[in-house]
Amino acid sequence: MTTLYKLTGTLQQYTWGGKDYIPNLIGFTAQKDQLYAEWWLGAHPSSPSTIKVDDKTMPLNQFLSQNPTALGQQSRSIFGDELPYLLKILDVKQPLSIQLHPTKQQAEIGFVEENVRGIDLTDPKRTYKDKNHKPEMMIALSDFWLLHGFKPKTEILKTLRERSSLQTLANQLETQDLHHFYSDIMQANQTQLASWLLPIFEHNRLEDLSPENPDYWVLYSQKEMNISLAQLDAGLMCFYLFNIVQIKQGQGIFQDAGIPHAYLRGQNIELMACSDNVIRGGLTSKHVNIDELLKVIDCREVIPELIKAAPPDNGSFTYTTPAKDFALENVRYDDTAQINGKAESATILLVMQGCLKISDKNTALELKQGESAFICADTAYQISGRQVGYCVLAKLP
Ligand SMILES: [Zn+2]
Repeated sequence: MTTLYKLTGTLQQYTWGGKDYIPNLIGFTAQKDQLYAEWWLGAHPSSPSTIKVDDKTMPLNQFLSQNPTALGQQSRSIFGDELPYLLKILDVKQPLSIQLHPTKQQAEIGFVEENVRGIDLTDPKRTYKDKNHKPEMMIALSDFWLLHGFKPKTEILKTLRERSSLQTLANQLETQDLHHFYSDIMQANQTQLASWLLPIFEHNRLEDLSPENPDYWVLYSQKEMNISLAQLDAGLMCFYLFNIVQIKQGQGIFQDAGIPHAYLRGQNIELMACSDNVIRGGLTSKHVNIDELLKVIDCREVIPELIKAAPPDNGSFTYTTPAKDFALENVRYDDTAQINGKAESATILLVMQGCLKISDKNTALELKQGESAFICADTAYQISGRQVGYCVLAKLP
Protein backbone atom coordinates (compact mmCIF):
# COMPACT_ATOMS: atom_id res chain seq x y z
CA MET A 1 0.00 0.00 0.00
CA THR A 2 1.19 3.47 -0.82
CA THR A 3 2.01 5.59 2.23
CA LEU A 4 3.83 8.53 0.61
CA TYR A 5 2.14 10.99 -1.77
CA LYS A 6 3.01 14.13 -3.67
CA LEU A 7 0.96 16.99 -2.14
CA THR A 8 0.01 20.38 -3.64
CA GLY A 9 -1.05 23.35 -1.51
CA THR A 10 -3.54 26.13 -2.19
CA LEU A 11 -3.08 29.89 -2.55
CA GLN A 12 -4.95 32.59 -0.63
CA GLN A 13 -4.86 35.95 -2.38
CA TYR A 14 -5.72 38.39 0.39
CA THR A 15 -5.05 42.10 -0.18
CA TRP A 16 -2.37 42.25 2.53
CA GLY A 17 -0.14 39.79 0.64
CA GLY A 18 2.97 40.51 -1.41
CA LYS A 19 3.74 40.00 -5.09
CA ASP A 20 6.82 37.80 -5.30
CA TYR A 21 7.71 35.94 -2.12
CA ILE A 22 5.28 33.02 -2.37
CA PRO A 23 5.65 32.58 -6.17
CA ASN A 24 9.47 32.51 -5.74
CA LEU A 25 9.39 30.08 -2.82
CA ILE A 26 6.79 27.70 -4.24
CA GLY A 27 7.98 27.98 -7.83
CA PHE A 28 5.25 29.43 -10.01
CA THR A 29 5.08 32.53 -12.17
CA ALA A 30 3.53 35.55 -10.48
CA GLN A 31 0.71 37.11 -12.47
CA LYS A 32 0.78 40.84 -12.99
CA ASP A 33 -1.07 42.79 -10.24
CA GLN A 34 -1.80 39.67 -8.21
CA LEU A 35 -1.15 39.53 -4.45
CA TYR A 36 -0.15 36.28 -2.80
CA ALA A 37 -0.78 36.25 0.96
CA GLU A 38 -0.81 32.61 2.06
CA TRP A 39 0.10 29.13 0.88
CA TRP A 40 -1.86 26.43 2.72
CA LEU A 41 -0.90 22.81 3.24
CA GLY A 42 -3.56 20.78 5.01
CA ALA A 43 -7.06 19.38 4.86
CA HIS A 44 -9.14 22.42 5.93
CA PRO A 45 -12.44 21.93 4.05
CA SER A 46 -12.51 25.56 2.87
CA SER A 47 -9.29 25.10 0.90
CA PRO A 48 -7.86 21.57 1.05
CA SER A 49 -4.53 20.63 -0.48
CA THR A 50 -4.62 17.96 -3.15
CA ILE A 51 -2.73 14.69 -3.38
CA LYS A 52 -1.94 12.50 -6.32
CA VAL A 53 -3.36 8.98 -5.97
CA ASP A 54 -2.72 6.64 -8.95
CA ASP A 55 -2.31 9.67 -11.27
CA LYS A 56 -5.65 11.09 -10.09
CA THR A 57 -5.80 14.31 -8.10
CA MET A 58 -7.94 14.31 -4.98
CA PRO A 59 -8.55 16.76 -2.07
CA LEU A 60 -6.66 15.70 1.06
CA ASN A 61 -9.77 15.89 3.27
CA GLN A 62 -11.58 13.50 0.92
CA PHE A 63 -8.61 11.14 0.91
CA LEU A 64 -8.50 11.17 4.72
CA SER A 65 -12.21 10.50 5.09
CA GLN A 66 -11.76 7.46 2.81
CA ASN A 67 -8.48 6.40 4.47
CA PRO A 68 -8.67 7.52 8.12
CA THR A 69 -5.97 5.02 9.15
CA ALA A 70 -3.51 7.40 7.40
CA LEU A 71 -3.95 9.71 10.43
CA GLY A 72 -2.66 7.15 12.91
CA GLN A 73 -4.35 5.59 15.91
CA GLN A 74 -3.15 8.13 18.50
CA SER A 75 -4.19 11.13 16.37
CA ARG A 76 -7.66 9.62 15.74
CA SER A 77 -8.21 8.90 19.43
CA ILE A 78 -7.52 12.57 20.35
CA PHE A 79 -8.62 14.56 17.29
CA GLY A 80 -11.05 12.27 15.50
CA ASP A 81 -10.87 11.54 11.78
CA GLU A 82 -9.46 14.90 10.75
CA LEU A 83 -5.97 16.24 10.22
CA PRO A 84 -5.43 18.26 13.43
CA TYR A 85 -3.18 20.99 12.02
CA LEU A 86 -2.78 23.39 9.11
CA LEU A 87 0.64 24.51 7.78
CA LYS A 88 0.96 27.88 6.04
CA ILE A 89 3.50 30.20 4.48
CA LEU A 90 2.60 33.89 4.93
CA ASP A 91 3.89 36.96 3.12
CA VAL A 92 2.79 39.92 5.23
CA LYS A 93 3.19 43.01 3.04
CA GLN A 94 0.56 45.10 4.86
CA PRO A 95 -0.32 44.72 8.56
CA LEU A 96 -3.02 42.18 9.37
CA SER A 97 -5.93 42.89 11.67
CA ILE A 98 -5.43 42.54 15.42
CA GLN A 99 -6.87 39.17 16.34
CA LEU A 100 -7.20 36.52 18.97
CA HIS A 101 -8.47 32.98 19.05
CA PRO A 102 -10.81 31.23 21.50
CA THR A 103 -10.11 28.29 23.79
CA LYS A 104 -11.59 24.94 22.75
CA GLN A 105 -14.41 25.39 25.28
CA GLN A 106 -15.21 28.96 24.15
CA ALA A 107 -15.28 27.76 20.52
CA GLU A 108 -17.60 24.86 21.30
CA ILE A 109 -20.06 27.14 23.14
CA GLY A 110 -19.78 30.02 20.64
CA PHE A 111 -20.29 27.75 17.63
CA VAL A 112 -23.49 26.25 19.06
CA GLU A 113 -24.80 29.66 20.21
CA GLU A 114 -24.39 31.19 16.75
CA ASN A 115 -26.08 28.16 15.18
CA VAL A 116 -29.00 28.58 17.59
CA ARG A 117 -29.23 32.29 16.71
CA GLY A 118 -29.35 31.32 13.03
CA ILE A 119 -26.22 33.22 11.90
CA ASP A 120 -25.15 31.58 8.65
CA LEU A 121 -21.58 30.24 8.43
CA THR A 122 -20.92 32.60 5.52
CA ASP A 123 -22.39 35.68 7.29
CA PRO A 124 -19.65 38.33 7.77
CA LYS A 125 -20.98 38.76 11.32
CA ARG A 126 -20.35 35.09 12.11
CA THR A 127 -17.45 34.68 14.61
CA TYR A 128 -17.22 30.92 15.21
CA LYS A 129 -16.74 29.01 11.96
CA ASP A 130 -16.02 25.70 13.70
CA LYS A 131 -15.81 24.15 17.17
CA ASN A 132 -12.03 24.11 17.44
CA HIS A 133 -9.45 26.27 19.22
CA LYS A 134 -6.61 27.74 17.16
CA PRO A 135 -3.30 27.91 19.00
CA GLU A 136 -0.63 29.09 16.54
CA MET A 137 3.12 28.84 16.21
CA MET A 138 5.13 30.84 13.72
CA ILE A 139 8.74 30.66 12.61
CA ALA A 140 10.10 33.79 10.92
CA LEU A 141 11.49 33.48 7.38
CA SER A 142 12.73 37.10 7.41
CA ASP A 143 13.04 39.87 9.97
CA PHE A 144 9.47 39.77 11.29
CA TRP A 145 7.44 42.29 13.34
CA LEU A 146 4.28 41.60 15.27
CA LEU A 147 2.12 42.71 18.16
CA HIS A 148 1.91 40.09 20.90
CA GLY A 149 -0.03 40.35 24.18
CA PHE A 150 -0.38 43.22 26.65
CA LYS A 151 2.80 44.87 27.93
CA PRO A 152 3.17 45.05 31.71
CA LYS A 153 0.97 47.85 33.04
CA THR A 154 4.01 49.82 34.27
CA GLU A 155 5.39 49.86 30.72
CA ILE A 156 2.06 50.91 29.23
CA LEU A 157 1.90 53.80 31.72
CA LYS A 158 5.42 54.89 30.75
CA THR A 159 4.55 54.73 27.02
CA LEU A 160 1.39 56.83 27.56
CA ARG A 161 3.17 59.37 29.81
CA GLU A 162 5.81 59.96 27.09
CA ARG A 163 3.12 61.40 24.76
CA SER A 164 1.30 64.56 25.70
CA SER A 165 -1.95 63.62 23.93
CA LEU A 166 -2.10 60.35 25.91
CA GLN A 167 -1.64 61.84 29.43
CA THR A 168 -5.33 61.63 30.28
CA LEU A 169 -5.26 57.96 29.34
CA ALA A 170 -2.31 57.37 31.68
CA ASN A 171 -4.29 59.01 34.49
CA GLN A 172 -7.26 56.81 33.68
CA LEU A 173 -5.16 53.62 33.64
CA GLU A 174 -3.79 54.44 37.12
CA THR A 175 -7.30 53.75 38.43
CA GLN A 176 -8.30 50.83 36.17
CA ASP A 177 -7.30 47.26 35.43
CA LEU A 178 -6.16 46.42 31.89
CA HIS A 179 -9.44 44.79 30.90
CA HIS A 180 -11.59 47.84 31.77
CA PHE A 181 -9.04 50.18 30.23
CA TYR A 182 -8.89 48.17 27.00
CA SER A 183 -12.66 47.94 26.90
CA ASP A 184 -12.98 51.75 27.15
CA ILE A 185 -10.40 52.30 24.40
CA MET A 186 -12.00 49.83 22.00
CA GLN A 187 -15.35 51.58 22.48
CA ALA A 188 -13.98 55.13 22.17
CA ASN A 189 -15.74 57.44 19.73
CA GLN A 190 -14.11 59.34 16.84
CA THR A 191 -13.71 62.55 18.91
CA GLN A 192 -11.73 60.68 21.57
CA LEU A 193 -9.63 58.78 19.03
CA ALA A 194 -8.87 62.03 17.20
CA SER A 195 -7.77 63.77 20.41
CA TRP A 196 -5.35 60.94 21.21
CA LEU A 197 -4.01 60.16 17.73
CA LEU A 198 -4.15 63.29 15.55
CA PRO A 199 -1.39 65.06 17.55
CA ILE A 200 0.78 61.98 16.99
CA PHE A 201 0.25 62.20 13.22
CA GLU A 202 0.94 65.96 13.31
CA HIS A 203 4.18 65.75 15.30
CA ASN A 204 5.86 62.77 13.62
CA ARG A 205 7.17 61.68 10.26
CA LEU A 206 7.48 57.96 9.53
CA GLU A 207 11.03 58.28 8.19
CA ASP A 208 12.25 59.78 11.51
CA LEU A 209 10.92 56.94 13.65
CA SER A 210 12.34 53.51 14.42
CA PRO A 211 10.15 50.37 14.49
CA GLU A 212 10.68 49.90 18.25
CA ASN A 213 8.62 53.09 18.69
CA PRO A 214 4.83 52.52 18.74
CA ASP A 215 4.34 55.84 16.88
CA TYR A 216 6.16 54.26 13.92
CA TRP A 217 3.52 51.52 13.62
CA VAL A 218 0.63 53.95 14.08
CA LEU A 219 1.90 56.00 11.14
CA TYR A 220 2.95 52.93 9.13
CA SER A 221 -0.41 51.16 9.54
CA GLN A 222 -2.41 54.29 8.75
CA LYS A 223 -0.43 54.70 5.53
CA GLU A 224 -0.24 51.02 4.45
CA MET A 225 -3.87 50.28 5.34
CA ASN A 226 -5.19 53.58 3.99
CA ILE A 227 -6.95 54.45 7.25
CA SER A 228 -8.74 57.79 6.99
CA LEU A 229 -7.79 60.35 9.67
CA ALA A 230 -11.49 61.23 9.78
CA GLN A 231 -12.42 57.59 10.49
CA LEU A 232 -9.71 56.36 12.86
CA ASP A 233 -9.49 52.69 13.87
CA ALA A 234 -9.39 52.03 17.63
CA GLY A 235 -6.93 49.24 16.89
CA LEU A 236 -4.26 51.92 16.29
CA MET A 237 -4.25 52.54 20.05
CA CYS A 238 -3.11 48.94 20.62
CA PHE A 239 0.43 49.85 19.53
CA TYR A 240 0.70 51.64 22.89
CA LEU A 241 -0.73 48.72 24.89
CA PHE A 242 0.75 45.57 23.32
CA ASN A 243 4.32 44.28 23.02
CA ILE A 244 5.93 45.21 19.70
CA VAL A 245 8.10 42.18 18.97
CA GLN A 246 10.88 41.75 16.42
CA ILE A 247 11.68 38.16 15.47
CA LYS A 248 14.85 37.29 13.59
CA GLN A 249 14.85 34.74 10.78
CA GLY A 250 14.62 31.21 12.23
CA GLN A 251 13.19 32.26 15.60
CA GLY A 252 9.53 31.82 16.40
CA ILE A 253 6.70 32.63 18.78
CA PHE A 254 3.60 30.87 20.09
CA GLN A 255 0.17 32.51 20.32
CA ASP A 256 -2.02 30.81 22.90
CA ALA A 257 -5.79 31.21 23.20
CA GLY A 258 -6.92 34.74 24.11
CA ILE A 259 -3.56 36.46 23.51
CA PRO A 260 -4.11 39.41 21.15
CA HIS A 261 -1.68 39.57 18.24
CA ALA A 262 -1.18 41.16 14.83
CA TYR A 263 1.35 40.34 12.15
CA LEU A 264 2.84 43.61 10.96
CA ARG A 265 5.56 42.87 8.40
CA GLY A 266 7.68 39.98 7.09
CA GLN A 267 7.38 36.37 6.00
CA ASN A 268 6.83 33.31 8.15
CA ILE A 269 5.86 29.67 8.45
CA GLU A 270 2.70 29.27 10.48
CA LEU A 271 1.49 26.05 12.03
CA MET A 272 -1.85 26.00 13.82
CA ALA A 273 -4.72 23.84 14.95
CA CYS A 274 -7.11 23.31 12.03
CA SER A 275 -9.63 26.08 12.70
CA ASP A 276 -10.86 29.33 11.22
CA ASN A 277 -12.00 30.93 14.50
CA VAL A 278 -10.75 34.51 14.50
CA ILE A 279 -11.99 37.26 16.81
CA ARG A 280 -10.91 40.64 15.45
CA GLY A 281 -9.79 43.55 17.60
CA GLY A 282 -9.25 46.44 15.21
CA LEU A 283 -7.02 47.38 12.24
CA THR A 284 -9.71 45.96 10.03
CA SER A 285 -12.65 46.94 7.90
CA LYS A 286 -14.23 43.58 8.78
CA HIS A 287 -16.83 43.10 11.51
CA VAL A 288 -15.54 43.64 15.09
CA ASN A 289 -17.69 41.70 17.55
CA ILE A 290 -16.88 43.83 20.59
CA ASP A 291 -18.84 41.73 23.12
CA GLU A 292 -17.12 38.52 22.08
CA LEU A 293 -13.73 40.30 21.91
CA LEU A 294 -14.05 41.52 25.50
CA LYS A 295 -15.23 38.11 26.66
CA VAL A 296 -12.37 36.14 25.08
CA ILE A 297 -9.37 38.52 25.31
CA ASP A 298 -6.69 37.56 27.81
CA CYS A 299 -5.42 40.81 29.36
CA ARG A 300 -2.62 39.23 31.36
CA GLU A 301 0.74 41.03 31.18
CA VAL A 302 2.93 39.16 28.70
CA ILE A 303 6.73 39.09 28.49
CA PRO A 304 7.23 37.71 24.96
CA GLU A 305 9.09 34.40 24.88
CA LEU A 306 10.77 33.59 21.59
CA ILE A 307 11.18 30.05 20.29
CA LYS A 308 14.87 29.40 19.58
CA ALA A 309 16.04 28.96 15.99
CA ALA A 310 17.00 25.49 14.75
CA PRO A 311 20.77 24.87 14.93
CA PRO A 312 22.66 25.26 11.62
CA ASP A 313 23.95 21.65 11.53
CA ASN A 314 22.62 18.87 9.31
CA GLY A 315 19.91 16.67 10.78
CA SER A 316 16.63 17.05 12.57
CA PHE A 317 15.41 19.61 15.12
CA THR A 318 11.83 19.88 16.41
CA TYR A 319 10.11 23.10 17.52
CA THR A 320 7.49 22.31 20.15
CA THR A 321 4.98 24.52 21.98
CA PRO A 322 2.42 23.90 24.74
CA ALA A 323 -0.08 22.94 21.99
CA LYS A 324 -0.81 19.21 21.61
CA ASP A 325 -2.20 19.74 18.10
CA PHE A 326 1.09 20.15 16.22
CA ALA A 327 4.88 20.25 16.18
CA LEU A 328 7.26 21.41 13.46
CA GLU A 329 10.38 19.47 12.61
CA ASN A 330 13.17 21.20 10.74
CA VAL A 331 15.52 18.96 8.71
CA ARG A 332 18.73 20.37 7.24
CA TYR A 333 20.73 18.49 4.63
CA ASP A 334 23.52 18.76 2.12
CA ASP A 335 23.92 16.64 -1.00
CA THR A 336 25.33 13.69 0.96
CA ALA A 337 22.99 13.69 3.99
CA GLN A 338 20.84 10.62 4.78
CA ILE A 339 18.25 11.11 7.50
CA ASN A 340 15.97 8.34 8.71
CA GLY A 341 12.60 9.19 10.22
CA LYS A 342 9.30 7.65 11.15
CA ALA A 343 5.94 9.36 10.82
CA GLU A 344 4.09 8.51 14.04
CA SER A 345 1.14 10.64 12.85
CA ALA A 346 0.08 12.01 9.46
CA THR A 347 2.93 14.30 8.36
CA ILE A 348 3.26 17.06 5.78
CA LEU A 349 6.72 17.80 4.38
CA LEU A 350 7.54 21.06 2.60
CA VAL A 351 10.93 21.68 0.96
CA MET A 352 11.99 25.20 1.93
CA GLN A 353 15.36 25.24 0.20
CA GLY A 354 17.43 22.88 -1.98
CA CYS A 355 16.26 19.46 -3.20
CA LEU A 356 15.74 16.10 -1.55
CA LYS A 357 14.57 12.60 -2.23
CA ILE A 358 12.14 11.06 0.22
CA SER A 359 11.49 7.35 0.07
CA ASP A 360 9.67 4.63 1.97
CA LYS A 361 9.62 0.95 1.12
CA ASN A 362 7.28 1.40 -1.86
CA THR A 363 7.69 4.93 -3.17
CA ALA A 364 10.36 7.52 -3.84
CA LEU A 365 9.68 11.20 -4.58
CA GLU A 366 12.19 13.77 -5.79
CA LEU A 367 11.13 17.14 -4.37
CA LYS A 368 12.57 20.56 -5.05
CA GLN A 369 12.08 23.86 -3.21
CA GLY A 370 8.38 24.61 -2.73
CA GLU A 371 7.23 21.03 -3.32
CA SER A 372 5.62 18.91 -0.66
CA ALA A 373 4.59 15.42 0.34
CA PHE A 374 2.00 13.76 2.56
CA ILE A 375 3.29 10.87 4.67
CA CYS A 376 0.77 8.49 6.22
CA ALA A 377 1.09 7.61 9.91
CA ASP A 378 3.29 4.64 10.85
CA THR A 379 5.58 5.08 7.83
CA ALA A 380 9.35 4.71 8.12
CA TYR A 381 11.07 6.97 5.58
CA GLN A 382 14.45 8.19 4.50
CA ILE A 383 15.36 11.70 3.40
CA SER A 384 18.39 11.93 1.10
CA GLY A 385 19.78 15.39 0.47
CA ARG A 386 20.21 16.21 -3.23
CA GLN A 387 21.15 19.88 -2.98
CA VAL A 388 21.93 21.76 0.26
CA GLY A 389 18.89 23.18 2.03
CA TYR A 390 16.19 22.34 4.53
CA CYS A 391 12.63 21.14 4.77
CA VAL A 392 9.94 21.35 7.45
CA LEU A 393 7.64 18.56 8.58
CA ALA A 394 4.33 19.29 10.30
CA LYS A 395 3.08 16.51 12.57
CA LEU A 396 1.88 15.81 16.10
CA PRO A 397 4.34 16.34 18.96
ZN1 LIG B 1 -3.72 34.39 14.83
